[in-house]
Amino acid sequence: MGIPVLGRVRSLRGAIRDGDLLLLDADGGHVTARPLPAVVDAFEARFAKSKERQAAYAKLRDVEPFTRCGTRITVMMNAGLRDDMPGLALTGADGVGLFRTEFQFLVSATLPARERQTRLYRDVLDAAGDKPVVFRTVDIGGDKVLPYLRHNGGETEENPAMGWRALRVALERGGLLKVQARSLLEAAGGRTLNVMFPMVTEPWEFDAARDVFESQLAYLKSQKKLLPEAIRYGAMLEVPALAEQLDVLAPKLSFLSIGTNDLTQFLFAADRANPKLAERYDWLSPAILRFLKRVLQGVAGHTVDVTVCGEMGGRRLEALALLGIGIRRLSITPASVGPIKELVRKIDLDEISTAMNGWLMAPPPSLRQALIEWAEQRGIDCD
Ligand code: PEP
Ligand code: MG
Repeated sequence: MGIPVLGRVRSLRGAIRDGDLLLLDADGGHVTARPLPAVVDAFEARFAKSKERQAAYAKLRDVEPFTRCGTRITVMMNAGLRDDMPGLALTGADGVGLFRTEFQFLVSATLPARERQTRLYRDVLDAAGDKPVVFRTVDIGGDKVLPYLRHNGGETEENPAMGWRALRVALERGGLLKVQARSLLEAAGGRTLNVMFPMVTEPWEFDAARDVFESQLAYLKSQKKLLPEAIRYGAMLEVPALAEQLDVLAPKLSFLSIGTNDLTQFLFAADRANPKLAERYDWLSPAILRFLKRVLQGVAGHTVDVTVCGEMGGRRLEALALLGIGIRRLSITPASVGPIKELVRKIDLDEISTAMNGWLMAPPPSLRQALIEWAEQRGIDCD
């Protein structure tokens, strides 16, 4: 929706009073309370520059993101509400690479009825027209608690991010997934349904979730309902353990979506919601990039589309690194689509992959710094 949001700001509420002027720079991650006039002037100058940039990005809306060397990069957007869908036309994104279906569950006082779900999914597909939409089945639990859906026994979890959430909930509460499967299959009657399962940890979980969809499909068939023309099943790679069994899973997948938000917190054992750790671990760490590279190697030889759909892909320097290790598909916040398209057009993939290979083989003291210098030397703006 393009609304700037800043989170994890410690003790802000105690520092501001009613009527205070606040300068909010969500891109830079700063908020200034009661700024001096000189700070306001500097902020306004930067704001004007950022508006200029936005206008330049808007011009790229209908321009396809080809690299300098001629490779088409797929740049999709993430969404979760009907109201996000106009973002497709506004940004020129290639589709919705992650539709977070849990949002409708979070804003509802009770489990959304099947008809309501079907209406939402159909509206989303209608709004997308020819562009693909990847629906992720509910990712609730963890920090997305539903008061009307409690853990058996109702006990609170010590580590909710690693607890009873996402596909684990959906498989245990089979009725929930069944209703969602039927709604998605009905909504996609006559078109392609792209569906993916969050937090897959072991291949059997993917199989079990797909079976729920297949049995709902058989039911709809028996009822002579209009079926999807095709169903493409995918998994999210957010739990590192799954990377060790990609050889088992890959033959069953149409696509794999790497959720770097959760993946990073699990790789580093660092809670993504803990402000104390926010600065400590870097997405441009060789640990993450080497890991992602091995994931790409793990699915090589299979016809699996690999997308990065975490926030990492929407930052230019991080996107540059991802292109350098071989990622060709990104799904990012709508506001990042323009900046990433602009970046893509300036990149020569051979050049960046040679540099990345060298850095990953013998990591420099700061890979971030090395990338910044690399981009600066080529006049590529990665702010
Ligand atoms: C992720 O974990 O990277 C992801 C895209 O899922 P979410 O942010 O919704 O957990
Ligand atoms: Mg996630």
